[in-house]
Amino acid sequence: MGDPTDPPSDDRACKARQRAARERKTRLESALEELEKIRARKSGEELKQKARVSQTDPQARIMKQSNGGYGPSYNVQISTDKANGIIVNVQATQEASDCNQLLPALERIRETAGRLPQQMVADGGYTNRENIIQTDKEGVEFIGSMPDLSKTSVAQFERRGVDPSFYSGAFEYNFKEDIYTCPAGKTLSYEGKTNRVGLTEHRYRASGNDCSICPMKEKCRPNLSQKGRLIIRIENHPAVDSFILKMDTPRARDIYRQRGPIAEFPNAWIKEKLKLRQFRLRGLWKVHMECVWACLTYNIQQWIHLKWRTLKLLPAVG
Ligand code: SF4
Repeated sequence: MGDPTDPPSDDRACKARQRAARERKTRLESALEELEKIRARKSGEELKQKARVSQTDPQARIMKQSNGGYGPSYNVQISTDKANGIIVNVQATQEASDCNQLLPALERIRETAGRLPQQMVADGGYTNRENIIQTDKEGVEFIGSMPDLSKTSVAQFERRGVDPSFYSGAFEYNFKEDIYTCPAGKTLSYEGKTNRVGLTEHRYRASGNDCSICPMKEKCRPNLSQKGRLIIRIENHPAVDSFILKMDTPRARDIYRQRGPIAEFPNAWIKEKLKLRQFRLRGLWKVHMECVWACLTYNIQQWIHLKWRTLKLLPAVG
């Protein structure tokens, strides 16, 4: 038997090089396969060409990092039970966005617990109309944080160079006649509607002739063509309207405030105590299993903590 400290023989070095070449070939084939999957989900040709995949971990996806940069990552979804701080579900995913992860998480909880939770609390990343409507249909009370759409429309008006005194709020809506009246007293008539998930956009437009001779047109529609000024009225799905009203109550705001400590504690504990800041394994399934073990470890310590607390509450014997 050769001394392990001996330099590798030509034969062993050759085999090692062949093995490395085989592994590299497998990784590249896998990277090409994943690249095709990513491209298939992109719409424009330019976006398809810009698609990138990591050669070291082809199943990872390029996602935004906490430091503002981008890198190959997995998005790990953890659901925690409020009563005992126990993790009830974990899943590593290739999806950068959290929005599409709320309903699958609920489904996994239903599979493992045999029923849905009464309430689900999630941050703004998970709060969209579809999630509000679907949780409502399932009878799960959803507490979240709806993005302030008025800020988005203000940003759009700013981009178009509309003067603040001609934003949508300056136009008066007549519910009975279903028309708007602009600051110059002209009528914006109903033009049509577009149905989107959880909302309907109703369009109202001023006459092109009125706007073209209007002395306020530079402030009201500086970059528009021959068409008259457009106003969009949004009609939410009833579940979305109820959600918005509910999130304005002290009860809902108080529940939402509790989300941070409950949801962030397991994450912080796993990162701090288990030093799991970067996955040791590669590939979606292996990364998922790494997360499962980390969450199991967290749950065991949490269980010991709960047990200890219960024992301390028992009366002493003897
Ligand atoms: S530009 Fe058109 S919509 Fe705007 S104030 Fe004048 S008439 Fe009314």
